[in-house]
Amino acid sequence: GSTIGIVGGGQLGRMLAMAAARLSYKTIILEPQADCPAAQVASAQIIAAYDDRDALGQLVQVCDVVTYEFENVPLPAAHHLVASGARLFPPARALEVAQDRIAEKAFLNGIGIETARYAAVGDDAALSRALADFGNSGILKTCRMGYDGKGQKLFRDAHPQRVEGTYAAMGGVPLILEALVPFEREISVIAARSVDGSVVAYDPAENVHREGILRSSTVPARIGRQTAEQAQATAGRILSALDYVGVIGVEFFALADGTLKVNEIAPRVHNSGHWTEAACVLSQFELHIRAVAGLPLGDTRRHSDCLMENLIGDDVERVPQLLAESGTLVHLYGKSETRAGRKMGHATRLIG
Ligand code: ATP
Ligand code: MG
Ligand code: MG
Repeated sequence: GSTIGIVGGGQLGRMLAMAAARLSYKTIILEPQADCPAAQVASAQIIAAYDDRDALGQLVQVCDVVTYEFENVPLPAAHHLVASGARLFPPARALEVAQDRIAEKAFLNGIGIETARYAAVGDDAALSRALADFGNSGILKTCRMGYDGKGQKLFRDAHPQRVEGTYAAMGGVPLILEALVPFEREISVIAARSVDGSVVAYDPAENVHREGILRSSTVPARIGRQTAEQAQATAGRILSALDYVGVIGVEFFALADGTLKVNEIAPRVHNSGHWTEAACVLSQFELHIRAVAGLPLGDTRRHSDCLMENLIGDDVERVPQLLAESGTLVHLYGKSETRAGRKMGHATRLIG
């Protein structure tokens, strides 16, 4: 086959389309927004809602395999793609698990992987009980649709009896309270599984978040070899348990004693893996295309240490200086309008 369908037309879809083109695959984006980042580089775009049945059917007709660039592809749309005969990678089960923070943690705990302690919160009384249980601290999150730290509320030494109105203020939707994890640092592993079940993983990256948004990823992470290997092995167990095909991003909290807890998983290429395009022979984007197209996965070896920085909002004003640096790869997403908090691009500086 030679055409890959991609649901979602943001920067991740754009970078997937670029990688696909290098291997002579055509890409067709399904994305309601006509001037999306991926539109400039994909072979074609179907402009329709993600759950538009006709559009989904059209995608199946013209594509040999369908993938996605974001985890909130509506589950009925994913099921419709499969029912219409699409090979959908990663599988719909990965979406189901990753779309709901409670399903995600239950899945992970069920295969023996540690997460933060958590409680489902459906009203203020449940929040009071859970807060008291977690030592009056925790992070309250919407179960679904949160990203870049949106839909979250931090409690530190809070009074469990004084939370009236919180549930409604969070939108009256299902919530989860997570115990605060006293992490030393945050790391992530980008890994992939092929159609024949083989698994590869990149070196863990060390991630810094500000205001809930990823700011930088540094490789190597300042963790021991055993911790790094454990993180990679954990990603592999998740991939196998989901009978997964494609690239996954697994976010971890690394504690001072060397133990790990999984924060969340992303069933797609991941922002904390953008450094791979500069510091590895094979980028996470090509790795994903290879996996879903049934090609050999190839080699995740890293040839350089590096620092990847996101260019968020006005950070793009630094682009002229970044372009003048030797050993820095600048990647811009083609977004015409700069807005505060908006990811405009990233730059990876090779170190040493
Ligand atoms: P993303 O854009 O990565 O999908 P998100 O909105 O899903 O973000 P999370 O990854 O759940 O958000 O949380 C954002 C950040 O908040 C984490 O990277 C971490 O720094 C902090 N955080 C989240 N949950 C916890 C926790 N239980 N304990 C301590 N810190 C946490
Ligand atoms: Mg998330
Ligand atoms: Mg996260």
